[in-house]
Order: sequence, then C-alpha cells, then structure tokens
Amino acid sequence: MVSIVKRICPESRYWLKCPFGRTATRVVIHNTGNDAPAENEVSYMINRDDEISFHYAVDDWKAVQGLPEDRNAWASGDGMGKGNMEGIHIEICYSKSGGGRFDKAEDNAAQLTAEILRRYSWGLDKVTKHQDYDGKRCPHRTLDLGWDRFLKMVEKYYKGAEEMTEAQVRAIAREEFAKIEQEQAAKPAAKWAEAKIAKVMENGIMSGDQNGEFHPQSDMTRQEAAVVFANFLDKLEGRSGKVSGEEAK
Ligand SMILES: [Zn+2]
Repeated sequence: MVSIVKRICPESRYWLKCPFGRTATRVVIHNTGNDAPAENEVSYMINRDDEISFHYAVDDWKAVQGLPEDRNAWASGDGMGKGNMEGIHIEICYSKSGGGRFDKAEDNAAQLTAEILRRYSWGLDKVTKHQDYDGKRCPHRTLDLGWDRFLKMVEKYYKGAEEMTEAQVRAIAREEFAKIEQEQAAKPAAKWAEAKIAKVMENGIMSGDQNGEFHPQSDMTRQEAAVVFANFLDKLEGRSGKVSGEEAK
C-alpha cells in the first residue's frame, strides 16, 4: 500500500477549504495539470486564499492528505453538487509532463483508491472522475492513457489485498527493503566523517563502487570488512622495515 502522510488543513481555514461536514459516497479522480510533488500541492492548496481544495495529492512516493474525508472539498466545479459535497477528491501529481513519475503516481493513486473503497465497503462503481461533474477534461492524462485501464489498476489492488499469496507478500517486502537500502545508500556522509573517508580512499584502504561513489551510510558485510583489513595489512607490510620514528609516533 502506498504510504499516507497527513498534512491536514488547520481548522481555522475550514470555512474556506471545507466548510461542510458530510458523509462521503464516492471517490473523484483528478490530475493536477502540474509538475509539483504531493507535499507542495497540499501546502499550496491549504495556503492559497481561494476555495480550491481536495482531500489527497499522490505522487511517485506517497499520498499526502490535506482535508478530512468527512468534510467537503471544492474540486469538481459542481458547486453544491454530489462531486464537491460527497466526493473524496484525489489529485494525481506530475500530469503536466507525464512520464515515469506520473505512471508511478497514478499507480499509487490506484492503491489509495482501492484502500478507500475497502474502508467504506464500496464497489468499483464509486470511482468517478472530475469530468463526470462539470465536463472539464480532468483527469486529462489518465483519460488520454485510458480510464478503463485506471479502473483495472484499482481493481487489481482492491482484489489483490484479499487474495495475495505468500510469494507476493514476500516480493513486496523485498521491494520495500531494497527501497530502504537505496535511500540509505544515497545519504551523504556526516560532516565529521568526511576527512576520514577521504583519507582511507586516498590510501587505498577503501574504494568507491564502480562509479567511484562511496555510499558512506551503506551497510558493510564481513567480506567487505575483511578486504578493508587486508588492504590495511598490505599497507603496513609495504612499509615494514622503513617505519621511521616519525611514522611510529
Ligand atoms: Zn480535476
């Protein structure tokens, strides 16, 4: 399941963004028409001084919730109609330029939609699009790529959670674990370690990967530790007999 981060609009702005308490009856899908990530879409939505609002923005990493589901949004251009009053509005990010980020955002939105359907015990017929309410061609890129295709993605996740095999669960866990490792490997070195890293690299004790990148925050295996110690011993042996007073200090 796509992870959901809550950045709920402060109650002091409910009068503008979501004045009505209500019971949701459907999901409404949108494309942002923008190239900004979900966090930015939500903070911009909350802070701009107009009535435009929605419940979730979803990008290639996560879903960000900006409004409570039990309040309305101003998103589908139908005034006090069923779209605004009863819809849970989901904006899919990166629809302006499309490409890989959009594809992943759309996939994440399908996961979020499936999660909402299950939570409310709704069928696939509760997934609607902005266009259904005021005719605006939104979600434009999702429509270009095929609305039925999107519904099939939602259906896959909707059914998938109930019928997942152990092998599928393991595959997801592996994927998540690899993602965590990648994120860890991409982190920069701490300030206090930078000089030490430069020193062990200059001296051939440790080296970078095939691209010369050091990945300072990655884990180390026992075999990698053995290589480091062996390099260090090689270095010492190379100096044997010429350990000067200076180096012995
Ligand atoms: Zn829309």
